[in-house]
Amino acid sequence: MIKLDILAFGAHPDDVELGIGGTIAKLAQKGLIVGIIDLTQGEMSSRGTVDERKTEAHNAGKILNVHIRENLRLPDAQISSSWEQKIEVIKVIREYTPQLIIAPMKDDKHPDHHNAHFLIREANYFSGLHKVNTGEQAPYRCPTLIYYYPYYEISFPHLLIDISEHFENKLSALKAYKSQFFNPDYDAPETFISSERFWKSIKERCAYWGSKINKEYAEALYLLEPINISELRLFL
Ligand SMILES: [Zn+2]
Repeated sequence: MIKLDILAFGAHPDDVELGIGGTIAKLAQKGLIVGIIDLTQGEMSSRGTVDERKTEAHNAGKILNVHIRENLRLPDAQISSSWEQKIEVIKVIREYTPQLIIAPMKDDKHPDHHNAHFLIREANYFSGLHKVNTGEQAPYRCPTLIYYYPYYEISFPHLLIDISEHFENKLSALKAYKSQFFNPDYDAPETFISSERFWKSIKERCAYWGSKINKEYAEALYLLEPINISELRLFL
């Protein structure tokens, strides 16, 4: 059984790369055991098939050097805090017992991102209860949750991670999503994230946060409750 240092969740394949791809690459390069769980297969997207997106996510995970990447196959566009969906999230938290969870922040533009925030946050709490039964698994509550915006930050972040040396890695991982982002060779209707403007904004966004700490590129993270500062050693 693999025990993860860090478990990052996305509502859809590519959410993690958009929000914290550089951070994931940085943490993995430090030798930490990092995993990504995508909640849905992105089957409601206007572009790309489920099979294409599965291959893209696998390839992006390889580029970021994550140890595991799994998909919970929850229904796209229907992420909720239902008990059924919570149980699926609890199972992976108990299986991988991460020291740190990184999850989507509330209020992001896509409702699935917003709903994923509460699903993961609530599931982690209930995962610590002995009477929540998931078979042979022991209860486990991850002590530290940190959040990110897949699309764009709508409030000032609490932590900025210097990803200057990992920005190209992030872009390479995003380019693995051939069906999703700006790609003149891919024949499909244009969406919010497949426009050339959105592709340019990925660099601009990281450069903006980088400028706040006098670095080339950075990614933004959020806290919603006090945490033990020693948990942040994972980032150092
Ligand atoms: Zn998404």
